[in-house]
Amino acid sequence: MSLKIFNTLSRSVEELIPLDPSRRTIRMYCCGPTVHNFAHIGNFRTFVFADLMRRYLEFKGFAVTHVMNITDIEDKIITAVQKTGRDLKAYTGEYEAAFLADLDVLNCVRPHQLPRATDHIAEIIELIGKLLERGIAYRSPDGSIYFSIEKYRASGATYGQLLKLNFDEMRVGERVSSDEYAKESVADFALWKARTPNDGAVFWPSPWGEGRPGWHIECSAMSMKLLGPSFDLHLGGEDLVFPHHEDEIAQSEGAGVQEHGHRFVKYWMHGAHLLVEGKKMAKSLGNYFTVRDLLGKGYSGREIRFLLLSAHYRESFNFTLEGLNGARTALARIDELIGKLRDLAASETSTPEDEMVQRFTGVMDDDLNVSAAWGIIFEWVREKNRILADGKATALFAASALASWARIDAVFGLANGSKTAEVPAEIAELLEARQTAKKAKNFKRADELRAELKLKGWLVEDTPSGPKLKKI
Ligand SMILES: [Zn+2]
Repeated sequence: MSLKIFNTLSRSVEELIPLDPSRRTIRMYCCGPTVHNFAHIGNFRTFVFADLMRRYLEFKGFAVTHVMNITDIEDKIITAVQKTGRDLKAYTGEYEAAFLADLDVLNCVRPHQLPRATDHIAEIIELIGKLLERGIAYRSPDGSIYFSIEKYRASGATYGQLLKLNFDEMRVGERVSSDEYAKESVADFALWKARTPNDGAVFWPSPWGEGRPGWHIECSAMSMKLLGPSFDLHLGGEDLVFPHHEDEIAQSEGAGVQEHGHRFVKYWMHGAHLLVEGKKMAKSLGNYFTVRDLLGKGYSGREIRFLLLSAHYRESFNFTLEGLNGARTALARIDELIGKLRDLAASETSTPEDEMVQRFTGVMDDDLNVSAAWGIIFEWVREKNRILADGKATALFAASALASWARIDAVFGLANGSKTAEVPAEIAELLEARQTAKKAKNFKRADELRAELKLKGWLVEDTPSGPKLKKI
């Protein structure tokens, strides 16, 4: 079965055929965070989507190279560094570490490479040099370098490949210096920004004088360095389609580094917006959440991840605290079944149920249709529970069901459904001490330890496969 995805370039669902002639490897890039603050839950929707795509490609047997950049220099960072008076590296380093920690909390597989823009100034300068050589970039009176939309289009290239743009409303040669701008102002954008007093100590030497790169050129330089001038897959949030991704295409293809007939990127995938409590996230509305905020409210990374994975990536999704409570209930249903299956399977092992894996693959191949996948999974949970309740299940049945879940969970990454990992060390030690007491036939001590565990909020159940802890 082949995987089909919605390609923003063609605005249609297409079969994903890797550039690699052996069709076994996929090179993918996802625009990463701007490390000027803690990333919010809307940002993480995109990163969890990228993680799902990577995991599913690996599930399908592709060898994936996954690159995600760290934007550690752009307008917002300059503003923050100026305001706090801190050193650029110290400031961005703190938010980069926080971002990676949050990525781990959400159980996202770390990208193979996480290039920082500030470590690639030489590559950025080289790329700008190529655009200047080809006459597509030019120097403005203040010493900055701009990308010329007019020259690019005159070379026969299309600006506006992901989005249809109305050039009749555009004034030729108009320039925009800020990294973020609106569609109405399709204009020449900055590749290199000449040093200004506002930049403080943040600047680098270049053939065109001191300054710093524009945001868009960073992604072109880093993605092409690590994945080559043409690669398979580029992901990002839909808010990046314009201008960021349009500009990435223009810079990368404008430099003329691709082989004849090849594009910069073959497939573009964009994740939809996230609403929180029915509205666009805003600090003033009280619906602006970082991962840390949600952990502080008592939710787990696993619950957040489940909720983010419950809706199709191209649908705008309403993220609510009620939804997180629902995620908790849904995960508890899965955990309960997995717990029962583990007890029954004991040491038995088996292979996944073909039918279950095939049904799952069938819907996921359809542009990652997670809604249908969850429908199949919960139908499966009901069916397994029914068979268990009838007392007809065997150890082999349980082992095969567990293998099926393990196969599917390699894609969803919701851990193994076991609570063991979440048991604090102190509790695990008490349980261990109780086992030792029982073995020594010191039942009084064993009962005392059981009571102590209960006081700390944990129930011990003795099962044929050993003691089980349950949170009260
Ligand atoms: Zn980017």
